[in-house]
Parts: sequence; C-alpha cells; structure tokens
Amino acid sequence: MKFTRPNAPAAPRHPLLLTLLVSLWLVALPNAPLWRQLAQLPEVSGLRGLLFGLGFAVGIAALTQALLALLNWRWLLKPVLTVFLLSAASGTYFMWSYGIVIDDPMIVNLIQTDPREAGDLLSWRMALAIGALGVLPTWWLWRQPVRPLGWGRRLGGNLLAFVASSLVLVLSLVLIYQDFASVMRNHGMLRYLINPLNSFYAVGHVMAEPLTRENEQLLPIGTDARLVTTSGQPPATLFVVLGETARAGNFGINGYARDTTPRLASEDIVSLRNVWSCGTSTAASLPCMFSHLGKEAYEGRSANFESLVDVLHRAGLAVLWVDNQSGCKGVCDRVPNVSTANLKISPHCNEGECHDEVMLQVLEQHLAELPAERRARGTVVFMHQMGSHGPAYHKRVPPAFKRFTPECASNALQQCDRQQVVNAYDNTIAYTDHFLAETIGWLKKRPGPSAMVYVADHGESLGENNLYLHGLPYLIAPDVQKRVPWITWTSAAFEEQRGLRKSCLKAQQDQALKHDHYFHSVLGMAGVRAAEYRPELDIYTHCMAR
Ligand SMILES: [Zn+2]
Repeated sequence: MKFTRPNAPAAPRHPLLLTLLVSLWLVALPNAPLWRQLAQLPEVSGLRGLLFGLGFAVGIAALTQALLALLNWRWLLKPVLTVFLLSAASGTYFMWSYGIVIDDPMIVNLIQTDPREAGDLLSWRMALAIGALGVLPTWWLWRQPVRPLGWGRRLGGNLLAFVASSLVLVLSLVLIYQDFASVMRNHGMLRYLINPLNSFYAVGHVMAEPLTRENEQLLPIGTDARLVTTSGQPPATLFVVLGETARAGNFGINGYARDTTPRLASEDIVSLRNVWSCGTSTAASLPCMFSHLGKEAYEGRSANFESLVDVLHRAGLAVLWVDNQSGCKGVCDRVPNVSTANLKISPHCNEGECHDEVMLQVLEQHLAELPAERRARGTVVFMHQMGSHGPAYHKRVPPAFKRFTPECASNALQQCDRQQVVNAYDNTIAYTDHFLAETIGWLKKRPGPSAMVYVADHGESLGENNLYLHGLPYLIAPDVQKRVPWITWTSAAFEEQRGLRKSCLKAQQDQALKHDHYFHSVLGMAGVRAAEYRPELDIYTHCMAR
C-alpha cells in the first residue's frame, strides 16, 4: 500500500503536456473576441456553424501547439509560455473592450505611443482582465515542475509533436474547408483576431519592414522648391492645424444635430464635408498626408521620402512645428520644432498634459526665433493638436468647456452609457471649435495676410456596433473612422493678395476629396511650387486669380 503526504510535490510534468495545456487554454478564453465575432456571422449558424467553430478552434490550438513544440527547450519553455499567456491576455482585453483587431498599424501605434497615451488606456478593468487571463495561468505555470529530458529525447519529442500538430491542423482545415474558405474570403479580418498569434505576426511583420524598404535613407523632395507669390508683397502667415481623431460628422458646421461648433459658425470659413483620410490611425495617416505620393503610392513605396514640411522649408519660408501630441512621426525632424505637451503653463496644463490652447501661448516667442530673412518671405506654422485623442476624452477639455453632460469620465469606454461617451467626445469637438476660433483670432491680430487650414488625421468610432476608438484596417473600418473635417479660413488681406474666390472654394463643399489633396493644397496655399507639386490635387489654387 502506498501513502502520499498531502503536500507532496506534484509529479513532474512532461514539457509537451504543458505546451498542450497552454494551447488549449489560449484557444478557449483568450480567444473569446474571435468566437464572439464568429458567432455573429450570419453564415455561421446551427449545427454546421458549431462544427465549423469547433474545427476552427482545433486548428488554432494545433497551430499554437506546433509553434510551441519548436520552442520547447529547457530554459526557453517557461519564458516563451509566459510571453504567449501575457500577450494573449492583453490582446483579449483590447479586442474585447474596444472591438479592435491587432494588425500592423496597431503594433506601430503601440511602439510609437508615449507613456502618457499608454496611461490613458490603463484601468482597473484592464488590470483585472490581464490578471485573470494572463497572470493567474502564468503563476500556475511557474509552479509546475517539469520533467527533465535529455536533449536527444527532447528533440525527438518536439519533432513528433510538431508533425502531429501540423497533421491535426491540416486535417481540421480539410474538414471545414468549404466554410473556412468562404468565411475567410468574406471576413478576412478574423485572422487579426487569432490570439496571440495576431500580435506576434504583426510584430514580426513590422520589424521585417526595414529589411524590405531602405529605411535608413531619406530621399529628398522639393529640391527645386520656390515661392511663386509676387515679391515685394507683405509676407503671409499660414497656420496649418493638424487635427486629432476628429470625425467630420460631429461638427455642427457640417450638419451635426448638436451645435458643437458655434464659434467657427460665426467665422467666414469654408468647411469641406466629404473628405476621406489616408489611414485610420495617426501612425498611418500622418506620414501619408505629408507625403507627395498619395495613399496608394505611399503604401506601396519602395523608398522613404522627405515631407511637405521639407518642401516649404526648401522654398525659403520660415517653418515651425508646434506639437501638443506625441510627436510628428518624423515629418518635422528637419525644421525648428517644439513640443508643448510637457509644459507647466497655468491654466492650460495639469496632470502632465496641456490643453491645445497652450500652443498659442508659446507661439510669439518661437516665431521670433526663426531666421528674419525667412520670415520676410512668409511663415508656415504647423500645430499638432491633442484634439479628441481617446479613450480619455474627458482629459482633453478644460472643465469650463464641458457643455455636454453627463460625460464618460472613465477610459474604459464600454463601461459608460453610450450617450455619455458621445457627450465626452462632443466636448472635445467643442473645445477644438474654441481652439480654432482662438487661432483665427490670433491671426487676425497679426499684421499682413494670413490663413488657416485645419484637417484631421482620422475619425473615431463611438460605440457604433460595439466599436470604439480607431485603427481598424482601412477596408473594413467604418466610415466614421475615415471621414475627417477640412476647414479653411482666410483673412481679407490674403484673399485680396491671392485673388481667392471663396465661392469657388465653397463649391467643393460636398465634393469627394482625400488626404491625397493635402500635400498639394498646402503648397498651393503657401504659394510654393516644386517638381512634386500636382495642380490637379490642389483644392485652392484653381480658385485664385494669381
Ligand atoms: Zn490620430
């Protein structure tokens, strides 16, 4: 008879049993967002749908097990499993809560995010989810004794497990092939939900990118850039405001039922209401907007080029970039640039972030530092807003500007009532309205002709179909993530100097325009020409007499 002590150490487990248990765990709970999405598809229903889901799950588990079998080495096993468990847990939280998927642009955003932005995403709910789905199984994992194996047996076992898992994968795919092919063809985004392989795939893909593109070298553009406005005229000031996460449909001046933009409505502006973004995230849109290539050529480019900012600089203008966000993603690196995000100017700054108006506070001083001979030709100032950056919309707006209440004051948006999320978001648009009106007011006080162009980088989902934030792959992203505001204000002196006909601009109000027009239109507004300039994409110059 054999007695076991109650606290006898557990029998050492075979390492491949551990990888199998982790694979099964991963395919179940951490892939809940995938199963939720699958269950909502009309073509996946009834017994056949259930069998399809089962086959899909077995396939994913087999794929995960096959990969883990290759990584099953003595000192590697537990760290690798830990990475799988923790990545999966955070992936689950974001996919489930915000309805996002994990693809290349999402990973680029993550890499380029600053601590403040990351802080906006943290919440107790997130800690709880990652604790339960990631930390708990990891804690269990590290308590498991692993049976020591010689390297020969280990290699043999791994190869066997790899081959067996691959066979199971192929078999499950063959069994469900008919449904699998049609579901994947119609809903390709599902592959971005396979957790945590989606994260690993995207990270690998993003890291491999520099190998396929010559990223080190930046090819110059605008080497022949020149000013075409007649010399001898007073120099003009152009403010180019780069909006953040602003959806065109939530602007009162664009027909939104709520009056979010009373101050712009009282200015003589032109608002274009049918403008489409290049990407659905800052990292995708911003460099594309500032490129001369346009969306299609930009995405397929084989080299990296300088930006719109460089062309303006080469033309001899005084150029300044003021950034109240996490940076200009490389487009402003070669001109004077200043960050206002970490200033401590009251009352605009608190809790480690400044409201957008702070940019106007520091302008005078930084403009005076630009070379006088450049200022004599004209000045272009880029202002990169914090705008409506989510999910902590409530932080973007000073208390006095919160007109729509009650607002969602949490960054776990899905916890709030939808109307509260919309209220918090609309408050950010109302504050942008105030900021733009103040910017126009600033220009009105400045001598000489002046103009302002405001365009946002992408839109936002506010809970429609359970989607929040932005960054979905362009093809499947809803229109609200892609339609952006484009607002133009010009002083009477500017209109006079350039012979600008406002009626001609207004006639384009509902015309389908894109970020592709941005590069060429800003050059047109600044009166700059270069080899890369394409007049057919300039929405301003054809409305000017000279
Ligand atoms: Zn953005």
